[in-house]
Amino acid sequence: MICPRCQNPVQENERFCSVCGLQLPESQPQQPAAPQYVPASPASSAVMNPSYSAVTIQPQTKRRPFVLGIVGFALSFSAIALGFFAIYFAGFTDLMDMYDLEMDAVYENLFYSYSTIYALMALVMGVVSAVFGGVAVNKLNSEPERYMGKGMYITAIVLGSIGAVFALLAFVF
Ligand SMILES: [Zn+2]
Repeated sequence: MICPRCQNPVQENERFCSVCGLQLPESQPQQPAAPQYVPASPASSAVMNPSYSAVTIQPQTKRRPFVLGIVGFALSFSAIALGFFAIYFAGFTDLMDMYDLEMDAVYENLFYSYSTIYALMALVMGVVSAVFGGVAVNKLNSEPERYMGKGMYITAIVLGSIGAVFALLAFVF
């Protein structure tokens, strides 16, 4: 092994170069296994050997989904379903009016209140899931080495927005 600073030959098991005193990396043959343990103490290994750890830490870090993004993803499906039902119930009563069909007043009121309740829930869930999705996309963009799941967050934004639009349409109907 050669000292990286002064190019003086050093023993494999030496911790410091005998000529210039440079602290040497752990013995070379073990290096391929070493990155396994690097993430546990990135600070200390960075001090010991900056160039070595900077390269190896990132591939070792497990990327995971951002929790808010998953919540938004799940909510967005409810938002779009509720938005759909809100429009369905709102539109149903309008259709009855349009064709001058008599509808039992009790049912009509029931349908109107269903529509309002579903629309309110769809609006809240749609906005929440779109916001959560947006936060998750931002988080992923700022720390791409830590997070994954962009497709889910985009889906949350799109479906959540559609659910919210459905809800607004149901209010307009
Ligand atoms: Zn040296």
